[in-house]
Amino acid sequence: MIKDKTIALIAHDARKADMIEWVKHNIETLYNNRLVCTGTTGSLVEKTLEEYASENNIPVPFNLTKMKSGPMGGDAQIAALVVEGRVHLCVFLIDDLSANPHEADIMMLLRQCRIHNIPVACNRHSADLMITSDLWSTSYKPTNPIYRKFNR
Ligand code: PGA
Repeated sequence: MIKDKTIALIAHDARKADMIEWVKHNIETLYNNRLVCTGTTGSLVEKTLEEYASENNIPVPFNLTKMKSGPMGGDAQIAALVVEGRVHLCVFLIDDLSANPHEADIMMLLRQCRIHNIPVACNRHSADLMITSDLWSTSYKPTNPIYRKFNR
């Protein structure tokens, strides 16, 4: 079970409903971790956590950091955290059916996750598999990706 890690949550507008459903589905796990979100996604996730806390009469967790909105640099801020090794899992629900003004930042965040070997889920199935992995609670240490010229 993932615990005491930092999980980045980003959802494009057309995917925000999906993200909120996913957050509700995994809310108890998310409570045990730190969250870092792009601005609008963060506000919606925060509201969801507050509603859950109030329904269950438990404290609202103070573990959510909101960055700038995605198009204003929020994805870039989260990419910088990935580079610094401060993100352990990234759930990035991208709107693949529309053009995004901040395509370069989206590509940068995905690229930095790949380079730094950070699990990045771009759909809920992947996110569910990653967040429930038993590897989080073992001594498993991810190795660095190998980038080596291949000689035929
Ligand atoms: P938002 O940003 O959470 O501020 O809407 C998401 C994005 O567009 O990357």
